[in-house]
Amino acid sequence: MDINFFAEENKFSGHQELVYTNNSPDTLSKVFYHLYYNAFQPGSMMDVRSRTIEDPDSRVGDRIAGLNKDEIGYHNIKSISQKNAVLKFKIEGTILEVFLDKPLKPNDKTTLTMDFNSQVPVQIRRTGRHNVEGVDFSMTQWYPKLCEYDKDGWHTNPYIGREFHGVWGDFDVKISIDHHYVLGGTGLLQNSNEVGYGYQDTKKPLKKLTEKNITWHFKAEKVHDFAWAADPNFIHDTSQLNNGMVIHYLHLDDSLNENWQNLKEYAVKSFEFVNKNFGEYPYKQYSIIQGGDGGMEYPMCTLIAAGGSFKGLVSVTVHESIHSWFQGLLGTNESKYEWMDEGFCTYAQYKTMDHLYNTNYMNPFI
Ligand SMILES: [Zn+2]
Repeated sequence: MDINFFAEENKFSGHQELVYTNNSPDTLSKVFYHLYYNAFQPGSMMDVRSRTIEDPDSRVGDRIAGLNKDEIGYHNIKSISQKNAVLKFKIEGTILEVFLDKPLKPNDKTTLTMDFNSQVPVQIRRTGRHNVEGVDFSMTQWYPKLCEYDKDGWHTNPYIGREFHGVWGDFDVKISIDHHYVLGGTGLLQNSNEVGYGYQDTKKPLKKLTEKNITWHFKAEKVHDFAWAADPNFIHDTSQLNNGMVIHYLHLDDSLNENWQNLKEYAVKSFEFVNKNFGEYPYKQYSIIQGGDGGMEYPMCTLIAAGGSFKGLVSVTVHESIHSWFQGLLGTNESKYEWMDEGFCTYAQYKTMDHLYNTNYMNPFI
């Protein structure tokens, strides 16, 4: 994906080239994508549901209904093509249905090209801009994302605030954004010296900034989503495990800096404990990013809120990072089988917290 981000307008344009392999025994005549941003519009299924069910998420409530034109989220799909054929498509809420020019047979692959324009919604839940903790852009569920197809068929769940299910793939993402921004997210940064980022060798001179925008290039292999966040005031810090794996921290420069400093020791110990007891984390890095709203797991990173107590920060970091195993590596369907991710993750979180704090405060088997 090539993304051209207009930070002042909270908008971006995108070009996506998707090489899709049909690993199913079925011939596919159409494909579906999620358009998550469309949920953040008055009258969306997520909005109506939140205003009419008995026990709505108070973080959502009626906030979507009150969004004005500049605050909503949307994906405007300009075109989709398969080789040289322009494809017909249909959008209903957060689901895009695309009719293929040539059916895709089992084991065949095809390239789907899409151009789109998007507006980042004000942060209501998980994704969005300018959240209460002051982070500019928390970019999760932020691009047209292929739906999963498996033995149950297409998983075209409309987005109503539940969790996720995705397709495994290799991501190559270039994000062009105002050079004041510091980014973190899924994948490995390919051009740290160019963007002036402390990932690797910072002794080399930085490329002179002659343009307003600078392009951040990330690659991530064998993951099922790609998330990122950006703020001009992000501090970037790292710590390292004995096996070489690096943990990155991206957070605002404020009164919580000490908590973030102290978190490093706990995060390293947590990864070491889970590596030893549940299986080795297979990626080279993991990023803990201040995202301003609760905590949510994404491949190779998490976006968390930082405003609570220190133990709360440790606990949410431990919990979200363990989702790298329990759903991340296993790829279970979070929207359908919550016990497989939250159940196992919470069990491992309590075991890890007991290890970190030398306690036995809860029977994790409950
Ligand atoms: Zn969880």
